[in-house]
Amino acid sequence: FAEVRDTQKNKNAAILHHVEVAEGSLSVKDKVEAEVDIMTRRDTMKNHSATHLLNKALREVLGEHINQAGSYVDSKRLRFDLTHFEGISKEDLKRIEEIVNEQIALGLPVAVREMSLVESQEEGAIGLFEDKYKDVVRVVNMGNGYSVELCGGTHVRTTSDIQMLKIMSESSVASGIRRIEAITGREVYKHMTSSDRVLSNVGTLLKAAPEELDRRIAELQSENKGLQKEVHNLKQEESAKSLNDVLDQAAELSNGSKVVAFQFEDMDMDTIRGLGDKIRDQIASGVIVLSTVKEGKLNFIAMVTKDLIEKGVFAGNIVKQVAQITGGNGGGRKDFAAAGGKDISKVDEALGQVKTIVEQML
Ligand SMILES: [Zn+2]
Repeated sequence: FAEVRDTQKNKNAAILHHVEVAEGSLSVKDKVEAEVDIMTRRDTMKNHSATHLLNKALREVLGEHINQAGSYVDSKRLRFDLTHFEGISKEDLKRIEEIVNEQIALGLPVAVREMSLVESQEEGAIGLFEDKYKDVVRVVNMGNGYSVELCGGTHVRTTSDIQMLKIMSESSVASGIRRIEAITGREVYKHMTSSDRVLSNVGTLLKAAPEELDRRIAELQSENKGLQKEVHNLKQEESAKSLNDVLDQAAELSNGSKVVAFQFEDMDMDTIRGLGDKIRDQIASGVIVLSTVKEGKLNFIAMVTKDLIEKGVFAGNIVKQVAQITGGNGGGRKDFAAAGGKDISKVDEALGQVKTIVEQML
């Protein structure tokens, strides 16, 4: 028992079957009985016959300029390459699919006749008029002239045998060549069944009927937006609370100026800068150094009030010295400066030094 995987014509026009032995053995001079796998054959016929209708529908929708640039058909699907210089719009694809399915529903007769090349051209046949066609050509006529093509393939008897066509994708394969992939017959049913299952699973997850899914998803999206806003507001409230904690822990210099050195977790630079501004508004005179560790990165900012800048206390110098304690570096202006730190375990030590550093500058 062997399965035929491929058939090819050799140069003497003999048909060669490439087989894979599935059971038993095969040797020279064995007599074999060939049997066509009916289902596979019929599925393939449907897919191949559908390429004729697709070819026609493409010409109707996109224009007569398009040409078949190749096709591939097996029992699962069909592929149709055509010459066209731009992507095919969703609306056009939908129209093309509709036309093919209309022609399938009409149950057009499929007639196969052999005739001379000239006769076939008179009938308006399309196809590759190449040297390989001898004097007699095979013409496949669907719907008494609706679609007339030169073709040597196997076809259904009426277009309704194809049952249904569903376009799965449209893509570019080369410059000026588009590819359409589609399924027919039983594969459409399988596709429908699996789409149904996905919809039903999503419906279960969202506790909604299939026709309510888009509304439900829109609801969830707006709910999510609301939650994000709420989280943002809570974070703001939280930072306002931390502001009081920070001020409570401020140290005082001998001249009455405050020294605020505080460590924040998981805040970005903009946030701690905003907090720094608020702290500066609360203290009349002083130095503020804040640190934050976000995504493993340690950063410092320093701020100095005007009166201390006049006495030679500069934010750039302070932040530089603080960052250096952790192995980092940085600097900036007299009133505001930022620096990157390295060793996170030394943050406490660095912030603990702020008061001493400022005192040395006075
Ligand atoms: Zn054909």
